[in-house]
Amino acid sequence: MTERIFNFSAGPAVLPEPVLEEAKQDLVALPGVGMSVLEISHRSRAFDAIIQGCEADIRGLAAIPDRYRVLFLQGGASLQFSMVPMNLMAPGGTADYIVTGSWGKKAVKEAQKVGAVHIAASTEADNFSRVPAQEELKLDPQASYVHFTTNETIEGVEWKTSPSTGAVPLVADASSDIFCRPLDVSRYALVYAGAQKNLAPAGVTLVIVRDDLLVRSPKSLPSMLDYSIHAKEKSLYNTPPVFAIYVMSLTLKWLIGQGGLEAMARRNEEKAALLYDAIDASGGWYRPHAKPDCRSLMNVTFRLPSEDLEKTFVSDAAGQGLDGLKGHRSVGGIRASIYNAFPRKGVEALAGFMKEFQRRNG
Ligand code: PMP
Repeated sequence: MTERIFNFSAGPAVLPEPVLEEAKQDLVALPGVGMSVLEISHRSRAFDAIIQGCEADIRGLAAIPDRYRVLFLQGGASLQFSMVPMNLMAPGGTADYIVTGSWGKKAVKEAQKVGAVHIAASTEADNFSRVPAQEELKLDPQASYVHFTTNETIEGVEWKTSPSTGAVPLVADASSDIFCRPLDVSRYALVYAGAQKNLAPAGVTLVIVRDDLLVRSPKSLPSMLDYSIHAKEKSLYNTPPVFAIYVMSLTLKWLIGQGGLEAMARRNEEKAALLYDAIDASGGWYRPHAKPDCRSLMNVTFRLPSEDLEKTFVSDAAGQGLDGLKGHRSVGGIRASIYNAFPRKGVEALAGFMKEFQRRNG
């Protein structure tokens, strides 16, 4: 078997090895079905069991109340930047956006094409190194909804508790930290996540939406962009990404087998601490991007004393089987993405490499 290296990519990202093994083993013929999951109809009984099992496991993992609908859509989290305002913005209304990084900015850009956007807070002046305090939020009680990004994948900045928005529906882009810890869905009107970091391969986007919001979708919306139609058709309005949903179903089973979201949170905190401790122990040689109280569990971002050293760090690390550590092209530096499926051994290897790299180059 080809040996696997440690994949620190921000997404698509590492999947649990037992999931890859099971998908491989059953790829040619699903047990009891005799056809590949790549070949079966999305209206077949076999796929029905897969998608329903997926929904049941998602509901179980996060104890999602019955009044929420679970949708499996396409178009990535990026399409949600448009679908959220198209469906939830009241005619002539406005929406509040809290911007803590590059993805939040993109969400604003798309929402502005649909309606009036009010920036309730932005930490751009601080180079997106923190999330705002509740007192900093300039929330409009008449807003159609408030949008924020639970974890900014590029900057590595994560909310530890979600903002309070009173009676105004709260919408979260949870693409890069969904299910990295318990998720109290009842705090939200809608949560969405592109699946290719913590849930599945690319191709499916999870949307969890409170059902009273579905009446807001204007009848004039194209069907594919209308949450109420996807909800009514149970995500089978058109052909869904069958394979991605199948792999998600295996990943959810793995997550349950790992002890669920509480257990996952403990492991993620331990993994992230190994890297933040290495940064903090470096005497300022490694400089963390995020302020301590909003350091991401999933994307650990830091700088070295020079860009040349950063380049050497990335290539030397790759030479030791630690791949994908280059920061996003828009911010530079180093980013270690350590999602749920990323093994602790790989984090330990990176922490060891960091110490050794500093010793050689510091
Ligand atoms: N939001 C966040 C927080 C992300 O990390 C990403 C992708 N990295 C996106 C949105 C866009 O996702 P997609 O590529 O699935 O459209």
